Amino acid sequence: FTEDELAGIRAESVRAYELDRAHVFHSWSAQKQISPMVVSRAQGSYVYDGEGRAFLDFSSQLVNTNIGHQHPVVVEAIKKQADLLTTINPAHANAARSEAARLITERTPEGLDHVFFTNGGADANEHAIRMARLHTGKHKVLSRYRSYHGATALAINVTGDPRRVPNDHGDAGTVHFFGPFLYRSEFDATTEAEETARALRHLERTIQLEGRDTIAAVVLESIPGTAGIMVPSKEYMQGVRELCTRYGIMYIADEVMAGFGRTGKWFAFEHFGVVPDLVTFAKGVNSGYVPLGGVVMSNAILETFADRSYPGGLTYSGHPLACAAAVATLGVMESEDMIENAATLGETVVAPRLAAIAERSPIVGEVRGVGMFWAIELVKDKTTREPLAPYGGSSPEMDAIVGKLKAAGILPFVNFNRLHIVPPLNISAEDLNVGLDVYEKVLVEG
Ligand code: PLP
Repeated sequence: FTEDELAGIRAESVRAYELDRAHVFHSWSAQKQISPMVVSRAQGSYVYDGEGRAFLDFSSQLVNTNIGHQHPVVVEAIKKQADLLTTINPAHANAARSEAARLITERTPEGLDHVFFTNGGADANEHAIRMARLHTGKHKVLSRYRSYHGATALAINVTGDPRRVPNDHGDAGTVHFFGPFLYRSEFDATTEAEETARALRHLERTIQLEGRDTIAAVVLESIPGTAGIMVPSKEYMQGVRELCTRYGIMYIADEVMAGFGRTGKWFAFEHFGVVPDLVTFAKGVNSGYVPLGGVVMSNAILETFADRSYPGGLTYSGHPLACAAAVATLGVMESEDMIENAATLGETVVAPRLAAIAERSPIVGEVRGVGMFWAIELVKDKTTREPLAPYGGSSPEMDAIVGKLKAAGILPFVNFNRLHIVPPLNISAEDLNVGLDVYEKVLVEG
């Protein structure tokens, strides 16, 4: 920035901060205890604070800016669409939405050919569950502990992290089960094969004891995101698919965070060779440049609503600006080989470097992930595996680590005792290594 630009950024940021504190109510926060960082600009893999300081964005914000910030092709597509048609009643057909639906369903498995667009991920899950309930005539929804599915009433009740508890209402019809997570096994397993077999047996017993005729859907993040990026085995995911089929339960794959290239494939369920009945998405579909989510449904579910009205809708379903952003995003992901970049850099840079950090650091208990989707599990003691912050909370030790990362110019993703490495899919190898150098220094040298 020039001196003049910097002066402008500083002045605008001071006012932004003052007005924020005077009038803005923030998510998931005690309002008096927060001091939000002002973000004044962003470009590619970098964001700039109120002083114009650069931070390497290793969070992709809330793991949504999969193509990085301010991609010129997508910004231009939004501007063009704004000139043409900014908004319409969703009952009409519109070129941007039709094209977005075509491009999305081109990437989902055969037989999942229709999209219902929503404003984000939570309402995508709400609608997928509603469709599953109406399709099956059953009510209960099963989901795993250590999951996140959104913050609307039903989505937060399906969620399996502590944020559900203050929102819990007993009549949501949700039941939680333990998924596979060998490092913190609920099944006393010592091998992946044991963990898979016991987790599947536990799910089947849950289905039987809850009553197969009461269960409409299993909702499962293909790879749990915020909850810890625990990559399940292929056998587990195929087992879940098989149980759902056998017991007449709809399998809803929540791809809100893991989808659209994050794991080095278009959808994370592709790693496991399974085909869900419903797929929910948001975030990466257009990098969050304009809010957009949706549900892709199987033809069998579509058929349920062929001659019966679907009882649901949204004023902004398939919003033209959001859909134009999606069309452009999918285009650049393809033309700039971003998914291949994520897969390759994940395998050749992140995996070996994190393994080396884990080896040398006294506080890294485990590293795990795929593509541009990695978690570092921090512990007080590698033998006891006691987390560096309690589940659902923070700790002075974690705060100190986050402070050091930020001081070194990293914008990290943090959840309880974990740091997630989730930069944009199109990050350069150079920037990725610069960021990982910082993690290495902080975690190995302290
Ligand atoms: N599902 C998953 C897996 C998510 O990670 C999120 C958000 O982080 C959601 C659903 C909710 O999406 P939104 O915040 O757009 O409602």
